[in-house]
Amino acid sequence: MLEIKNLHVELEDEDKAILKGVDLTVEAGKVHAIMGPNGSGKSTLSYVLSGRDGYEVTEGTATLEGADILSMEPEERAAAGLFLAFQYPVEIPGVGNMTFMRTALNAQRKARGEDEVSAADFLKLIRAKAKELKIDADMLKRPVNVGFSGGEKKRNEILQMALLEPKMCILDETDSGLDVDAMKLVSDGVNALRDAGRGFLVITHYQRLLDHIKPDFVHIMSDGRIIKTGGPELAIEVEKNGYADILAEVA
Ligand code: ADP
Ligand code: MG
Ligand code: MG
Repeated sequence: MLEIKNLHVELEDEDKAILKGVDLTVEAGKVHAIMGPNGSGKSTLSYVLSGRDGYEVTEGTATLEGADILSMEPEERAAAGLFLAFQYPVEIPGVGNMTFMRTALNAQRKARGEDEVSAADFLKLIRAKAKELKIDADMLKRPVNVGFSGGEKKRNEILQMALLEPKMCILDETDSGLDVDAMKLVSDGVNALRDAGRGFLVITHYQRLLDHIKPDFVHIMSDGRIIKTGGPELAIEVEKNGYADILAEVA
């Protein structure tokens, strides 16, 4: 589904290398988790994949179902089936959540040459998705993320994800700042979307999220590279001993 090969990324302004050769393949139907110390480049990886400005790819490739995503505009990546749930969802005052989501869905449909969904059909669709995920649809009446609690923002990201039905979902610390109940809700949402045709890349600091979202693989990132790959037991090892042992072992 997603294939990253020898990805090197620098900050555009500073010529500072952040990713120093990332290799990662996420198969359809699998959940891969990335853990790693602060500043190791986890968020940068998700930003570069989604097409955020300010980063320069100096080497390597990233493909989604064989298509080169790095040469696509962000909206083309979304239309191709890539979705990024942000670590810090943005507030957009003046833009209703419902309008935002319908616009996103219709942009995706348009890019795929499909018909737009009517306001009435959209309402039915989004209500059904919200219900499936046990999300209060009242959130849809408010401006995007404005005044939302941390948990509501994350739930809103999951609702967007459910609506757009992406092929490849990247969640960047979707668990940070969540209380246990909100984390359960988010992970239930992710689990509900697990599907043989969909890949997940879950970036997290904490093993406890991975108690709820059972990953197939766990990767440890440090200083712009994936330095170790294992199964769920690797996350438990990190939780118990921190990163020091793994860093020392690899060094
Ligand atoms: P992580 O998500 O693993 O904590 P990040 O990808 O956020 O790591 O950051 C990796 C490194 O790149 C850090 O040293 C961070 O300070 C730096 N970095 C990332 N983006 C920027 C930016 N836009 N400007 C300056 N430094 C940045
Ligand atoms: Mg960080
Ligand atoms: Mg980060």
